[in-house]
Amino acid sequence: MFITKKTINGKDYFYFQKSVRDKDKVKSEYIAYLGKDKEEAEKKAELIKQQLGSKEKNYQKKLQQMTISIDELAAFCKRKGFVYPSGEIYGGLAGFWDFGHLGTLLENNIKTEWREYHVQERDDIVEIDGSIITNPKVWEASGHISSFVDLAVICKKCGYKTKIDKHEIPGRCEKCQGEYENQGEFNPMFVTEVGPIKPSVEVYLRPETAQLIFTDFKLVQENARLKLPFGIAQIGKSFRNELSPREFLFRSREFEQMEIEYFTALNQKCPYIEETKAVDILIYNEDIQKNNKAPEFMNVYDAWKKRIIKNDWHAYWLSKEYEWFISLGANPLNFRARQHLAEEKSHYAIDTWDLEYNFPMGWRELQGFANRADYDLKQHQNFSKTSMEIEHEGKKVIPHVVCEPSLGVERAFLVFMLDSYFYDEKRKNIVLKLHPKLAPIKAAVFPIIKKPEYEKISDDIVIKLKKEFNVIYDKSGSIGRRYSRNDEIGTPYCITIDDISPKQEDVTIRDRDTTEQIRVKIKNIDNVLRKLINEEISFLKAGKKVETRVK
Ligand code: ATP
Repeated sequence: MFITKKTINGKDYFYFQKSVRDKDKVKSEYIAYLGKDKEEAEKKAELIKQQLGSKEKNYQKKLQQMTISIDELAAFCKRKGFVYPSGEIYGGLAGFWDFGHLGTLLENNIKTEWREYHVQERDDIVEIDGSIITNPKVWEASGHISSFVDLAVICKKCGYKTKIDKHEIPGRCEKCQGEYENQGEFNPMFVTEVGPIKPSVEVYLRPETAQLIFTDFKLVQENARLKLPFGIAQIGKSFRNELSPREFLFRSREFEQMEIEYFTALNQKCPYIEETKAVDILIYNEDIQKNNKAPEFMNVYDAWKKRIIKNDWHAYWLSKEYEWFISLGANPLNFRARQHLAEEKSHYAIDTWDLEYNFPMGWRELQGFANRADYDLKQHQNFSKTSMEIEHEGKKVIPHVVCEPSLGVERAFLVFMLDSYFYDEKRKNIVLKLHPKLAPIKAAVFPIIKKPEYEKISDDIVIKLKKEFNVIYDKSGSIGRRYSRNDEIGTPYCITIDDISPKQEDVTIRDRDTTEQIRVKIKNIDNVLRKLINEEISFLKAGKKVETRVK
């Protein structure tokens, strides 16, 4: 296996490849995209090598064997304080979850990273925060009251309850292949009332964040003086009365979405399409699915040129979103882009792609990329009698949403947890290899010697670091125990104050993934930690390497 570099528009992109013999020829075969930074790419390549095993041919299969089950992950999350069943002392409630301290920190870090990448670092996307309950006419106009319906079925043989799409009728039970009994259509919107005095107004908890973007569209566009193409982003709670919530956070009744409605003029070209030249992904389009073929690794730009991905905006956003996950440490081999079959598209969609992830229960939708065209803005214009037209190149137009990247925070949470969960044979311990930017706790500080002089240094370091980072101070238990406690919750760096710290005015920092240690001056500790978290410096270059005994 070897690393290759592609330079596009002056930027370097690194890939992992291997040589395979095809009769007399030796071909190189794609394994993974490794990111833009050389050192980071080398680290990732090393990680993938470890995961695959150097002699492993069928890496997809090998990878599946390594993942833990979704129930094991749920148990781990509860044990370590990430996620609990909601109101568990009363038996919980299906489809509702509470996030503990570490889970809240991780979730917030995911949202912060998403916001930075999609809003802060761009000039063409602004953000709103719409209300959860709004005028019910919004849902009439959007079609959610009439068309947002699922079909409830119960298996006649094993009693398994699920929802299916109309086109899947009659279908077979996914558990036992038994016959389904149709229980009729249901609308998954939660209904509640506004106003304490009867008759009150019947309202809905929003089933998606998108609609508030459409209703506020004109105000936002005018206030931010946006010109096409532009996007409006939103992070917020959505509610769906799912028939059978299951698989931990994967399908819940209350969840959070991170969405962008990206507006363009009709047939407006994507000016960023060249960026897709740097991205290769497993592609599973309608043709491949209908012909029962396996998905293929393709360059996204080539797939667009060959009209496999027909729309340049789809190609662009699929690449961008995939890159976001990979840049935060997700495993590239666990993703694929799948086109919806004609019969499975939503009521508003023209062409839809999903970014799918290889969850322990199989390949499932992680993020949807619907093409909603001008459906929503036109509907709101008709129902509200308010013009949704804006100026574009001297004409009044209703913009189109050719691509709407829509991601569940909890599904992203699962991806990052699953891709970081390792059992280290040598350490006999779980090591949660979360990207430092996502890790709930950035550093743990330990005095090795229980004496006031050492504890004072530790206190001062903690006070200084806490101004900028989430750090913890841990002085109980053996040093090994303290390391393993932090490995398990994904703390990337452990700082120890040892016998020579007072004299040398330095401390050791241990890297979670390699267990290597460096010595760093106390006065530089905040700068070093910041650079490490932001991947501006590699670990061994951040201080003086400590030669530790190999256990
Ligand atoms: P599914 O087919 O899995 O029900 P969907 O196609 O209805 O999902 P969308 O309406 O496209 O989902 O929602 C966008 C994103 O919101 C999904 O890709 C997913 O990440 C998230 N999401 C949707 N429903 C749920 C849910 N019940 N629990 C958790 N996340 C969800």
